[in-house]
Amino acid sequence: MSAINIPEQVYDVLIVGGGPAGYTAGLYAARAGLKTLLVEGASTVSQITVTDWIENYPGMPEGTGGFDMVETFKKQALQFGLQVMQEDCSAVEPRSWNGTRGWAVLTSGKPLETLALIVATGAHWRKLDVPGEELYTGRGVSYCATCDGPFYRNREVVVIGGGDTAVQEALFLTRFCSRVTIVHRRDRLRATAILQQRAFANERIAFAWHAVVDEVLGEETVTGVRLRDVRDTGKSWTLPASGVFVFIGLIPNSDLVAGRVDLAGDGAIAVDRDMRTSAPGIFACGDCTDKLLRQVVTACGDGATAAFAAQLYVEDLKGNAY
Ligand code: NAP
Repeated sequence: MSAINIPEQVYDVLIVGGGPAGYTAGLYAARAGLKTLLVEGASTVSQITVTDWIENYPGMPEGTGGFDMVETFKKQALQFGLQVMQEDCSAVEPRSWNGTRGWAVLTSGKPLETLALIVATGAHWRKLDVPGEELYTGRGVSYCATCDGPFYRNREVVVIGGGDTAVQEALFLTRFCSRVTIVHRRDRLRATAILQQRAFANERIAFAWHAVVDEVLGEETVTGVRLRDVRDTGKSWTLPASGVFVFIGLIPNSDLVAGRVDLAGDGAIAVDRDMRTSAPGIFACGDCTDKLLRQVVTACGDGATAAFAAQLYVEDLKGNAY
């Protein structure tokens, strides 16, 4: 029996974010019998849904596409009674009902009220911040190979970055493009060994080492990039290309709770090992949090932990703690 008196519309757990972390949290919270709502962005998508292939999620030796993977997560969570809504969430405010504290998430519609909030808002791609990038976004500059790769059939493109994303997406682009030049500011890649091996073995992939982009060049659409050698600032040259794919890391999406919870130096949400933030009743999981490894498997683990910690928190509030 619940020892508290809260209005009917208040959820036990509200999750913001429809990626692997959010849906795993939703699966666990709903399966624990908590009244749980997951809010997916109305105008945004989880980055994993535009990832063409995932081959390092255990138990899936054949690999799977990112979109299909999240659909499977969603289907499984819905089976346990998770409620799902599409809304863009703009802010979080504290609430109190007869002395019981909770949170309200503001949307374009009615505020959504909850005892525990799980933030699973993911991350977005970092931009180069050079002249021409914004001007040619959508006209040759892209942050999504899965979405835009097919437009560059038999064309030459550049990929900026040396991490897992840059190399994996460069490999994907070789399905369409005649040449993919990976532009990296060092003389070796950050990406995991197997991706490096595949890239070095791929005849359509070339490398521009020690190079950074100073400008994206174009007329109606992109015509190339002006590169600079980081070892010799006087040396710059133009690399012709029809497309520029930028994969230079992630920026955690923490705006929703900025000012309400502690953030790490890079803006990621600071959490303890049980995914609690500095604000009681707010938990966070996945790519929006301060963590070493941003992968589907770690996002799922975070999501499960956040849901369990939220469950304990809600049971404690209700006087139902085991
Ligand atoms: P990342 O690992 O942070 O790598 C970003 C790359 O961009 C680095 O090589 C970095 O150079 C370069 N860079 C950063 N700022 C730059 C700038 N202003 N100009 C030029 N280059 C710049 O990011 P990510 O590759 O997007 O990966 C993010 C996370 O997702 C990682 O945890 C990764 O393991 C994971 N992920 C995994 C897979 C997979 O398992 N298959 C696939 C995709 C992503 P430096 O190396 O010099 O720092």
